[in-house]
Amino acid sequence: MMERREREVETAGTRAPVVLVVDDEPGIIRMLQVTLQRRGFGVITATSGREALEVVGREPVDLVLLDIMMPGLDGLEVTRALRARPEEERVPVIILTAKDTVRDKVAGLELGADDYMTKPFNGEELVARIRVQLRLAAMDRAIRRQNRELGGLNAVAVAVGQSLDVGEILGATLERVAEVEGVAAGGIMVWEQERGVLSLAAERGLSPALRETWHEQQLTTSPWASLFREPGSGLLGELAAAPDPALRGAGGGPYGNHACVALTAKGRTLGLMHLLSRSPHRFGADEMRFFAAIGQQVGMALENAHLYHHTQQQVSQMRALYEVSSSITSTLELQEVLRALIERFLDLLKVDRCVVTLSDVTGTAGEVVLGYDGSKPMPWIHGIQISLDRHPEVRRALETKKALVIPEALQEPLLAAVRSLLVPLQIRAMLVIPLLTKDKALGVIALSSLREARHFTPADVEFCQILANQAAIAIENSRLFAETKRLASTDELTGLFNHRQFYLLLGQEVRRALRYGRNLSLIILDIDYFKAYNDRYGHLAGDEALRQIARVLKTKSRDVDVVARYGGEEFTIILPETELPQAAVQAERLRVAVEGHRFSPAAEGHLTVSLGAATLVEGMDRPEQLVHRADQVLYEAKASGRNRVSLAAVHVEPPEAR
Ligand code: GH3
Ligand code: MG
Ligand code: MG
Repeated sequence: MMERREREVETAGTRAPVVLVVDDEPGIIRMLQVTLQRRGFGVITATSGREALEVVGREPVDLVLLDIMMPGLDGLEVTRALRARPEEERVPVIILTAKDTVRDKVAGLELGADDYMTKPFNGEELVARIRVQLRLAAMDRAIRRQNRELGGLNAVAVAVGQSLDVGEILGATLERVAEVEGVAAGGIMVWEQERGVLSLAAERGLSPALRETWHEQQLTTSPWASLFREPGSGLLGELAAAPDPALRGAGGGPYGNHACVALTAKGRTLGLMHLLSRSPHRFGADEMRFFAAIGQQVGMALENAHLYHHTQQQVSQMRALYEVSSSITSTLELQEVLRALIERFLDLLKVDRCVVTLSDVTGTAGEVVLGYDGSKPMPWIHGIQISLDRHPEVRRALETKKALVIPEALQEPLLAAVRSLLVPLQIRAMLVIPLLTKDKALGVIALSSLREARHFTPADVEFCQILANQAAIAIENSRLFAETKRLASTDELTGLFNHRQFYLLLGQEVRRALRYGRNLSLIILDIDYFKAYNDRYGHLAGDEALRQIARVLKTKSRDVDVVARYGGEEFTIILPETELPQAAVQAERLRVAVEGHRFSPAAEGHLTVSLGAATLVEGMDRPEQLVHRADQVLYEAKASGRNRVSLAAVHVEPPEAR
């Protein structure tokens, strides 16, 4: 009540000042009433101290003219009681009394009276003194208001200066502004330039209807568009005449009137702040000035936050590019490159799902190579073949070689035929980016937002495409690398590991066997009289025979065994975790299998093999030693008639022989 009364006096402007005349003599009251009313003052009267205090507590009073000698509470006690009230509700007091000793005057002034006059009084002088006191009181209020505003501005400045987070800045602003007297509710709408909308970024105490209306508005059709055309401006008005129907509907409720100021920086409007007064208070021009000052303060803070986030984004984009390109050169492993890439996508775009699909050679299907749900991998979808008929968005991106933005999947004509597939997956918004190399689309990265529609900005799309291009290069590099690796380790004729790869793998197996004390055996196999076969059936038939023997060896070996072409018509089989007796059994199986094989195209083509088997024994620490042992016994097999297996005796060489 008190606050409101004072605010009304303050903002009343043209209302006549009201003087409370307190005296126990009706004659004096009447005389004062006439004198003051003639000079344009409003007059309220009280005949006792107690009544005077009641009136001041109840009605707008701009000055108290106070007698001292009264029954009950005397004037000095009333003065003391008035001065005990809060500073903001200070009312000037002039004592008007017949007590004219210096002691009386000092006592009255020391208690806090603003002036002291004695009866009988001169009307002109009294009015002049009243005017002085009213002027002083007005100045006092102005200073007090300015202090409050400065304090408020300072509080906003401190609050917004402490953060670079837009949400925090706006929340803190409204919190501070809500502390201003008479503010019932507020909302801050920010302009999302890329989407062309104003959206409610912070609010305090808004009615559900206003919250709903201001949640999001197209700037072009918003009632507040003019504030963006004329930066720095503001609107102050009655609810009944508000440009927004929702505001007109709020009239007569808890709100008085409405102020709307632009949040500006460097002459640009970045958003606006709505404030509603607490009924029956009405914001005036002074408050509007104050709100506008806050608007500039917050505008600058918003600008800073935008600049900061822009810089941050650029930094993280550069970092992402760097990480992706550096992982290409360092790992060359496709899955790892793609995983690093997907992590960037998820992090930067805050999408719910990310799936990488590589297209097959026919262009009608694709294979999912990597999928993430949030930050969790979805290994169960890896390797799934998808038909492009059921994924028109993938087909479109592959065909056009352009990124495809689908802000609302359920309304996208392209997806109309597959809508029933999307619904259970809860997919709403999609961004499909082709993985482009010079002229090919290798596949796509599909990012999707679940449950809610979402807008991908041109900047998002552009950045994703840059990342995707890096990924495409990585994919191609890794495919080339894998192919080169395969070529480098494979024997072209038989498809078995070649000599080089055999030694590499044998080296690994020997080290592993030595370190963990495991068994390791080796078989070397040589075709018997192969020269004669070549001579008889021709070199091409000889090649085919080599291929067929390779296939026999491969199918008769365990998965863990390593079959290699050692060179010419010699093959090797590495047998991990195998002792010599089992190696002998295996060698015999292979011998029998080759012996029983009918070689085509040579009609009665027939070949046998000789085999030497050795096992890793104490004293051996290099792969060549094991090969040498096996080779030695192979020679024995040849020498003793061919088409047989020969075993290296397991013996420990005497120490001096090592
Ligand atoms: P044995 O081992 O039983 O003592 O008699 P062999 O005739 O198999 O032995 P030799 O080492 O004298 O001959 C090996 C033959 O293998 C010579 C070569 O023509 C043939 N050969 C080696 N590599 C290939 C190949 O890649 N293709 C074909 N067609 N023949 C090959
Ligand atoms: Mg040979
Ligand atoms: Mg031979």
